[in-house]
Amino acid sequence: MSTVLIVEDEERIASFVEKGLRAAGLQTVVARDGATGLAIAQAEACDLVVLDIGLPGIDGWEVLERLRGSGNTLPVIMLTARDSVHDTVTGLENGANDYVTKPFQFAELLARVRLRLREDQGPIGPDINRMVVGAVTLDLRTRRVEVDGAPVSLTAREFTLLHVLMEHPGHVLSREQLLGQVWDTDFDPRSNVVDVFVRTLRRKIGADRIETVRGMGYRFATE
Ligand code: CA
Repeated sequence: MSTVLIVEDEERIASFVEKGLRAAGLQTVVARDGATGLAIAQAEACDLVVLDIGLPGIDGWEVLERLRGSGNTLPVIMLTARDSVHDTVTGLENGANDYVTKPFQFAELLARVRLRLREDQGPIGPDINRMVVGAVTLDLRTRRVEVDGAPVSLTAREFTLLHVLMEHPGHVLSREQLLGQVWDTDFDPRSNVVDVFVRTLRRKIGADRIETVRGMGYRFATE
C-alpha cells in the first residue's frame, strides 16, 4: 500500500485530505511544518508528497528545493493558491511533478495522486496495469501492446488471448482452457478458432513467442 505524506499546516485542509486519501485505500502521514515534512520525505517513509506552499518555518518551495537538491525523486504535488500561477510554473521547473490550486475538489487531487503514484517506477512497486513478459508489454488500462518498444495493433479478442497466455508464462494452456477463458461460450472443443487466432498473434508479435506443445496446447515463451 502506498503512503502519502501531507505537508500542510492548516488542520482543516490536512484532515480533509487525509480522510479522503484513506477512504481511497492509501496510507497517510501528516507533517504540520516544512522541516518535519522534509525529514519524513528524506527518510523515504512515504511514496508521494502533497506539499503546501505556505508553511511555518521553511516553506513549500524550500522543502522542494532541498528535497531535489539531495537527489530525492519522490513525486511531489504542490498545493498552490489560485492567484499564483507564476509561482506554480516556477515550481514545476524546480522539480514539482504536479500542482492543485486551492480551493480544490478532492476528486481532482486524488486523480493526480493516483496518476503520479502509477507513473513513479521507484518505491511504489510494480504497476498493476502493466504486464511485461520478455519483450512484450501489455497495458491493461489502455489495452495497448508493445513488442520491443514498438506498438502492435491487436483486436479485442487477440488482446484477451495474449493476456491469458501472458498470465501463465511458460505454462501450457490447452485449447479447451483458452476457449473457455477467451471465448467463454461453449464453443465446440474441436473448433480450430484458437489455432487461427494464435497464428494471427504470432504474425503480429513474433512467431517464437507462442510455442506449440504438441497434443497439449500453447504456452507463452519466457525467453
Ligand atoms: Ca498553509
